[in-house]
Amino acid sequence: MKSPLIPKEQEVVVSCPGCNTLETLLFVNGKMVPTRKFKHRLGNIFHSCGTERPCKMLTSIKRFNY
Ligand SMILES: [Zn+2]
Repeated sequence: MKSPLIPKEQEVVVSCPGCNTLETLLFVNGKMVPTRKFKHRLGNIFHSCGTERPCKMLTSIKRFNY
């Protein structure tokens, strides 16, 4: 049995154009769970390596309907 109150989690693979790091990030209800190395800002993911370019998402974020 699935409850609509349980957050929907999804793993999204992102690639940093500055240092070519590949990382899997966790999204809950379409929002990134913040980590020490990655920040979600203005709809984009930014890596902490210092590049100004946002990371590419290699997995599309699903839109969940409740
Ligand atoms: Zn980087």
